[in-house]
Amino acid sequence: MQVQVAEFAKQHGVTATAVISVLDDLGVGHDESSFEADKDIVDLIVEGLSEAAASEDTIHLAPGKSTPRDLAAALGKPDKEVLTALIKQARVMATLTTTLKPEVAEKVAELFGKTVKWEEPKAPKAASPNRKVAKAGQKEKRPPVVTILGHVDHGKTSLLDYIRKTNVVSKEHGGITQHIGAYQVNLPEGVITFLDTPGHAAFTAMRARGAQVTDIAILVVAADDGIMPQTIEAISHAKNAEVPIIVAVNKIDKPDANVERIKQQLTQHELIPEEYGGQVIVCPVSAHTGEGVPHLLEMILLQAEVMELQADSRAPLAGVVIEAQLEKGRGPVATILIDDGTLKVGDIIVVGNTWGKVKAMTDWQGQRMQQAGPSTPVEVLGLSDVPGAGDRVEPAKDERSGRDLVDDRLQAERAKAMTSPKRRVSLKDIRKIGEEDEIKDLNLIVKADVQGSVEAVRGLLEKVESDEVNVKVIHAGVGTITESDILLASAANAIVVGFNIKPEAGAKAEAERHKVEIRTYTIIYELIEDIENAVKGMLEPKFEEEFLGTAEVRAVFKLTKAGKVAGSHCTDGRVVRNASVRVTRNRELVYEGKIASLRNVKEDVREIIAGQDCGIKFDGWEDFKEGDSIEAYELVQVN
Ligand code: GDP
Repeated sequence: MQVQVAEFAKQHGVTATAVISVLDDLGVGHDESSFEADKDIVDLIVEGLSEAAASEDTIHLAPGKSTPRDLAAALGKPDKEVLTALIKQARVMATLTTTLKPEVAEKVAELFGKTVKWEEPKAPKAASPNRKVAKAGQKEKRPPVVTILGHVDHGKTSLLDYIRKTNVVSKEHGGITQHIGAYQVNLPEGVITFLDTPGHAAFTAMRARGAQVTDIAILVVAADDGIMPQTIEAISHAKNAEVPIIVAVNKIDKPDANVERIKQQLTQHELIPEEYGGQVIVCPVSAHTGEGVPHLLEMILLQAEVMELQADSRAPLAGVVIEAQLEKGRGPVATILIDDGTLKVGDIIVVGNTWGKVKAMTDWQGQRMQQAGPSTPVEVLGLSDVPGAGDRVEPAKDERSGRDLVDDRLQAERAKAMTSPKRRVSLKDIRKIGEEDEIKDLNLIVKADVQGSVEAVRGLLEKVESDEVNVKVIHAGVGTITESDILLASAANAIVVGFNIKPEAGAKAEAERHKVEIRTYTIIYELIEDIENAVKGMLEPKFEEEFLGTAEVRAVFKLTKAGKVAGSHCTDGRVVRNASVRVTRNRELVYEGKIASLRNVKEDVREIIAGQDCGIKFDGWEDFKEGDSIEAYELVQVN
């Protein structure tokens, strides 16, 4: 009989591909959509299908040496998913390379609906090409560097304090903790470095200076309050920095805490919790009772494990300044986080625009250290000047080369400051920049008066199309343009667009300093049109009138050669040669044009100011009369 493949597959609850594969195995002729078979053959096919299904339910693992990574490969699942299952469901803390006990591997496999067959794999699987493999003896695992972000009062500081207090085994001599900008906790499963200045302002300020030290961001959201404006800002900042986010839903001890509500809110900001099928780890915690905090720490280590953070303690030194200040009796003091290599007492280092010989190093518990390796924060004494947060640390051969390098740097910086300001993206030359291939993305930060406008502007902007330039809204929020917006714009080379709002004073100054362009609008259509025109390279110059001054015609002189001159007196501000003017008589406009010449007594002058007399000739107009009123203005380009 003739059997349809699709129908047969449906009857047996398998795919058409599975049927064809069994047909091929059995050598039954077919034309992809149908095959010819009698009852015996059909029975054979059904048997083949159930065998194939059974083998799909079995995975093969090598006895005695299988790791979570092998298990993930056999299951065809991401490493992270398997590690999460191990920790959350099997309650086993492991790293990707820990050898698993057979019963643990079997339990996890079962969670994924598979049974384990313990045998040496027949053909070793090719390693995934994009997996970073540590070259033996070169790179070693390093602790993750974590920053805590979130809205004010959601418990960032409390959480940092709780973790510090509960995970520190106080050292023999006192063990008094001190604030050096970062601290480390030692857990049985690994070490975590926490940056001690919570909030996205510090996080992005470092990035704006070119230093990205954070590996993982913990977003704290109060369970009784939910996602607030600064939570949204923090999400944008972390996403823009491409740092993975773990959400800590804090204050779960409070009676009105609602973790589910927070999870739902998170989905609206493209943070899909794992429970909803997404990738984001959400940990309910209380910084007061400590509930959930150990789990949060486990999740940080799990995330770090998946990221395979590595460094080489024998590599040349590289580090970054977390914070620095001048201290009485101690001189310049800087907290340095080591990225690569090892910093030792006695080393000569160059730090940004300063240098020095490391006189002494202490950790955050005030313990003297002789050397510090990757991801370790240390307080360093001995620099000749105070460096800036975000400054890079590098080694120098000797004192002389350290000093020379700093001198060269300072000179180069001075020369650069004199010639060109730091180049930033501006709407006017976005197209040009696109052509030069420097940036393909036009990054925008959108701030507006109400949520409705934010959504409307964002929606319209995301529809702006261009072949060369890709319009990307990296952050959108309600409220005035703040310093934090400017910092993000500076770090992400973005333009800040305001709708129905103005920047706060501090933000304006910050924008000038960082050369960030701010554009404000009150008409949505104009905003969109400007962006559209900018990406098309057709932004028409826009002019605004700037009032200069007024003058009054007091006498009309007739010169034989030069025609008529209006003898005038400047009553307010100033009148400038080539300025645009409006002349009115009894409040009626009689002329609109330009000043052709301006004289004071017999001299041609560039401008006259209030209280002075002058002779004015207008461009192509001589019908002025005594008593006419002249208003001078200039057209200033505003885009
Ligand atoms: P930050 O501004 O995000 O650093 O927030 P803080 O750590 O200063 O906390 C703000 C307020 O929330 C303080 O009064 C804390 O005592 C309180 N708080 C922080 N965490 C918790 C928590 O887990 N439970 C309760 N009930 N209150 C908390």
